[in-house]
Amino acid sequence: MPAIAQVEPMTTARALRGPFDYRLPDELREAGVQVGSMLVVPFGRRNVLGVVVGLADSSEVREEKLLAPLRALELGVPPAMVGLAEWIAAEYCSTLARALSLVLPPGATRRLGGRRRRVTPAPTHLPVGSRATEPPALNGDQRAVLEALEGDLVERSAARRLLHGVTGSGKTEVYLRAALLALEQGRGVIVLVPEIALTPQIVGRFIDRFGETVAVLHSQLRPAERYSEWRRLREGEARVCVGPRSAVFAPIEDVGLIVVDEEHESSYKHEGDPRYDAREVAEERARRCGALLLAGSATPRAESLQRLARMQLPRRIDGRSLPHVHVLDMREVQSGLHPLTDEALARVRAARAKAIVLLNRRGWSNFLSCRSCGRVWSCPHCDVALVLHRAAGYLACHHCGHRRPAPASCEQCLSTAVARHGAGTERLQRELERVLGDGGFPVFRLDADSVSAEPSGVAALLRRFENAECGALVGTQMVAKGHDFPDVSLGVVLDADATLRFPDFRAEERTFALIAQLAGRVGRGGEGHVLVQTIAPQARAIVHAAAHDSDGFLAGELQRRRALGYPPFSHLIRVVCAAPESRPARAAAEAVRAQLDGTAVAGEGAVAARGTCAAERAGERAILGPAALFRLRGRERQMVLVKAAERRPAVRAVGLAVARAAAAREHAAVSFSVDVDPQ
Ligand code: ADP
Ligand code: ZN
Ligand code: ZN
Repeated sequence: MPAIAQVEPMTTARALRGPFDYRLPDELREAGVQVGSMLVVPFGRRNVLGVVVGLADSSEVREEKLLAPLRALELGVPPAMVGLAEWIAAEYCSTLARALSLVLPPGATRRLGGRRRRVTPAPTHLPVGSRATEPPALNGDQRAVLEALEGDLVERSAARRLLHGVTGSGKTEVYLRAALLALEQGRGVIVLVPEIALTPQIVGRFIDRFGETVAVLHSQLRPAERYSEWRRLREGEARVCVGPRSAVFAPIEDVGLIVVDEEHESSYKHEGDPRYDAREVAEERARRCGALLLAGSATPRAESLQRLARMQLPRRIDGRSLPHVHVLDMREVQSGLHPLTDEALARVRAARAKAIVLLNRRGWSNFLSCRSCGRVWSCPHCDVALVLHRAAGYLACHHCGHRRPAPASCEQCLSTAVARHGAGTERLQRELERVLGDGGFPVFRLDADSVSAEPSGVAALLRRFENAECGALVGTQMVAKGHDFPDVSLGVVLDADATLRFPDFRAEERTFALIAQLAGRVGRGGEGHVLVQTIAPQARAIVHAAAHDSDGFLAGELQRRRALGYPPFSHLIRVVCAAPESRPARAAAEAVRAQLDGTAVAGEGAVAARGTCAAERAGERAILGPAALFRLRGRERQMVLVKAAERRPAVRAVGLAVARAAAAREHAAVSFSVDVDPQ
């Protein structure tokens, strides 16, 4: 047993570079300290938590200067997770300590006191909407897919597959069967879902099928419950982990299968340092342990089509057809609802059926203005307008959370003529209640506001809609998630082009997915149709979504991305410099840019092309910016964007450039963030 442990202290400091050597006393050696063990170590004047990242027989530090750890904590992480953390730190331009914090047990850094935890019973899981526990016989399409997956699992070929199946084609059943095969091989399973709260049904199906061997990790668990689920996985008592992106770090040894459900969802990207993408981490983890990676979606990303081997489920279960989608041109229409939408909703009400109406904007109106002086109420901390939440009586910033009471008059000119512009889900609910609400046709609302007002959250709301005899469900994109209600016969998308107007190369893909996913909730138990209101009826995303033509959409998307040099044909790295004033932010961004230009000139086969985004040849790099972003949370922001054909060297160069710029005294007030392949 080696005498030296190489320990990474769990500090958030960027400047600090471990690991550091510690001498292992006999009792710790006997306790079986290994890579992944957690130790409490003296560090400077403090005692900190550290993770063993390597073992050695000797150290370059002189013997008498070597310190010994104080003690080891009960359960470390599997050794393989340390390697994965190293990969994350390098891939996302972060530090090893921050990457390790992702793989440690929940609350690990807060448990230095070493107080023994009380044993908390594992949380009980209440499934929603789960039906038959008796597995259905697979149909032919499902069988063909499963045979291929079985081959992968038997050969342990670490295959990477994309299950491209239309909505309602029975993808979940395929995941369940593949999971069973992996378990029968004695291996573990990770199932990633976008958001547990929004997709209680898939969790329910796994629990129904596999019972206690399922652990669910999600943010709504109390800390002690989270830890208890983590521990069940670590000790091998639970072998299947279902959860959102962080479940990719589940401490399961010998994982045989990683499922990424609804792989197109942007919630797989983590928005804090390290800005990891759980889909990429899943792929890397699967590669490292020879597991099968299975990503599924009805609307896969262009990236996935390019990278993964595709299998298709082209039909809905029982041969039900996809709903007919009708695009309604709103350019000449004055009211919020098209006359045909009014009619269709009235028909649903008369038939005592169900409808889902999607408007991707919460609140009552988008912004307020003064009719006499023109003042617009905007956020004091961000360059955006405040949104009116009428029932709650306040204006809110949807970027930073700032709130203030709704004004009765203009603070500038004292006029009481305050105009409300646009409509959000709150107002839409009220409107629909007015036209449909009497006679027992309830109108439910699902968005971030209605959910936070309801203690048991989304699941309760979905259950009420499911159990209602008839009614409408109004809401933001939350209504388009993987819900499986058999009796929804009408879907409506309002302002379908709103998402197209974002300045983002993924805007078209998002719009296509939103419409196709909403259509996917409709007609699962019988006939159904979908109305799409838009002022851009010819937009490619909308035309293809209306035709259920995801192949055609993806082909066009790949062509466009290739021509513009966007992912998957390049990698994007975004550096954001933020400061209270715009001048220092700008100066810092210019310094980053200059550093990057310098490394480009200095070699690495990189070419800087100021301000251009021409298609790149392999090994080349383009640097764009600095460009101003809108002020957010009281900070002015400047962005530099790097487009590179090869990811690792570009990440390294950006990391170096940022470290140098950040070290300069004149940039002390500036914070830097690096986002690799931002979403
Ligand atoms: P998807 O995830 O592809 O949208 P689901 O997994 O939600 O589809 O399946 C839709 C419905 O069909 C579910 O209620 C599921 O239980 C049911 N189902 C799946 N496979 C079969 C099958 N082979 N036979 C009968 N019903 C099935
Ligand atoms: Zn005014
Ligand atoms: Zn704000």
